Amino acid sequence: MTEKYVLVVGGAGYIGSHTNLYLHEAGYRTVVFDNLVYGHKSAVFCGELVTGDLASADDLEAVFTQYDIACVMHFAAYAYVGESVQDPQKYYENNLAGTLNLLAAMRRHEVSDIVFSSTCASYGVPVALPITESHPQQPINPYGASKMMVERILQDYGRAYGLRSVVLRYFNAAGADPQCRIGEDHAPETHLIPLVLQAAARGTPVRVFGSDYDTPDGTCIRDYIHVSDLAAAHKLAMDYLVNTGQSAIFNLGNEQGFSVKEVIKLAETVTGRPVHVNYCDRRPGDPAELVASADLARTALGWRPAYNTLSAILETAWAWTKRMEEASKPL
Ligand code: UDP
Repeated sequence: MTEKYVLVVGGAGYIGSHTNLYLHEAGYRTVVFDNLVYGHKSAVFCGELVTGDLASADDLEAVFTQYDIACVMHFAAYAYVGESVQDPQKYYENNLAGTLNLLAAMRRHEVSDIVFSSTCASYGVPVALPITESHPQQPINPYGASKMMVERILQDYGRAYGLRSVVLRYFNAAGADPQCRIGEDHAPETHLIPLVLQAAARGTPVRVFGSDYDTPDGTCIRDYIHVSDLAAAHKLAMDYLVNTGQSAIFNLGNEQGFSVKEVIKLAETVTGRPVHVNYCDRRPGDPAELVASADLARTALGWRPAYNTLSAILETAWAWTKRMEEASKPL
């Protein structure tokens, strides 16, 4: 344990806020740095919150000057795949240029450890399954490309400046804090699980993007991983940097694939409600199947996902959805 701070950049967002909470409960001092464009102030109810933007060297300088920082966790990124195709400049400016500003501030203040949120979207269309960390990276959209480019920058900074990084490539983050204090709250929401659960709560249909994929039931297969398990991996990644002094890359997934239809069926069981379905065209940029090998995270980090069934993940997400639906009802 350290008296220094962990700087949680993008800590008001979905995965960042769960990690901030996890670190706080593990006894760490945290400071969240977030521009609150997509993040929620209410999601940061522990640790310090500094509102600032990665585009501003002054904002960064202020937070690094005010707090003694041991390690940076960098979650701040735009993450809508479709939007990244429509407006790549927005994605490269924020995800790339913003990260360069952050790394420059780290160098100025001699902070050398960073845990970076990357994504299975950096692999593109898989050529082999399950996907290991050595699978080629050929992203098919600017979002995935921006993450891959940051990975490369981290390597180069490691060689040149001694920066030490753990890159975590998330598969499909899902679920909510088991105590239902925070959860997934995107606007607009584009992810399957919250949309299916909203459909269950409201009795409205959910769209299924494509039923003619080369998979057993024709719908896309994904590897869903609980957000609290991702949070735990960040703490282990930080320990890894301290203990080994080495940089590394890890996939984070449950190593189990579920089709869109299977997710919907299980959601009906968990909620006890029917989910109506509209079959639609494929969504551009969706690979048929993404399933992780998380062998490396298991062996090198000792990471063991606690929520290793999809129903356990869905139960926490359903509790959160019901809370959100209740809160949004007119008085
Ligand atoms: N999906 C769907 N309907 C939706 C949202 C998503 O059928 O309203 C599908 C999507 O095509 C993909 C899977 O569900 O195959 C997971 O999508 P999500 O956006 O949750 O995560 P992604 O895999 O894109 O990161």
